[in-house]
Amino acid sequence: MSHPSIVDGWFREINDKSFPGQAFSLRVDKLLYQFKSEFQDILVFHNDVYGNVLVLDGIIQCTEKDEFAYQEMITHIPLYLHSNPKKVLVIGGGDGGVIREVLKHDCVESVTLVEIDETVIQLSKKYLPNMSCGFTNEKLTIKLVDGFQFLKDLRNQDKFDVIITDSSDPEGPAEAFFQRQYFQLLKNALSNDNGIIISQTSENIWLNVNYLQRLTETAREVFTNVKYCSTMVPSYTSGQLGLLVCTMNDQIDLTEPTRFPTTSEQSELRYYNKDIHSASFVLPKWVENDLN
Ligand code: SAM
Repeated sequence: MSHPSIVDGWFREINDKSFPGQAFSLRVDKLLYQFKSEFQDILVFHNDVYGNVLVLDGIIQCTEKDEFAYQEMITHIPLYLHSNPKKVLVIGGGDGGVIREVLKHDCVESVTLVEIDETVIQLSKKYLPNMSCGFTNEKLTIKLVDGFQFLKDLRNQDKFDVIITDSSDPEGPAEAFFQRQYFQLLKNALSNDNGIIISQTSENIWLNVNYLQRLTETAREVFTNVKYCSTMVPSYTSGQLGLLVCTMNDQIDLTEPTRFPTTSEQSELRYYNKDIHSASFVLPKWVENDLN
């Protein structure tokens, strides 16, 4: 087996458009799987430090070592902001990490996963067992369709309290998720003005702050209350990834959780707590005016 992203035994994440002049590299200690699905190029390999690594279209999606930093923040920020989240929608998320975190909230009655590529779900069951552990939960419904189309076809009675967009990056099947029409569809899919959405922004402040500023402005054309927060994930480019949190309720202070993890919920979390919720919205001075 060989793969164009693997040279001399090292996987190299190179993208001259999004991260010019730099590359992130992980040693491939064992190549586990490679396949071109109908939607994307898929690679799974093992690295002795990071564990199993899932790569889509040449971009790292998750590693077993640090995935919790992303999954916990993209899930618990919106869920602890909502006073009583019962119906949750996850768009993308075929690795199962976000589903695992959503199911830690007993108040959630149902969670719908909309994933375009069934191969990712199957691979996660095989190579990322700690992330895919929620796939058999009876609260979960899986729809194997395009997330954009799913939202377009959504009926009025099927709306959600929280919507998490856990997609891959804009170059590929997730391109539509970074545009105004998508934010409009998300707004329409919320059960009421207290609904919360969160989306991964794909870029980070070091490499593409202008893009993040445009994305934040696009979200603000649709939602009245929008904030950017961030999480530290060493295997993502430059180690920092932003999340965009939006609601139509201006009374909600997005930087403060509405509910706090109980002692038993907190014991299952390794990254999120109420302090890191607030701290994640505090940005370095050179970007705070641009984004928040
Ligand atoms: N945590 C990751 C990150 O930020 O890099 C994202 C992980 S998850 C694996 C991303 C998922 O989004 C993939 O499984 C991909 O198949 C799915 N996806 C991409 N475009 C999609 C679309 N249009 N509709 C539904 N799912 C989509």
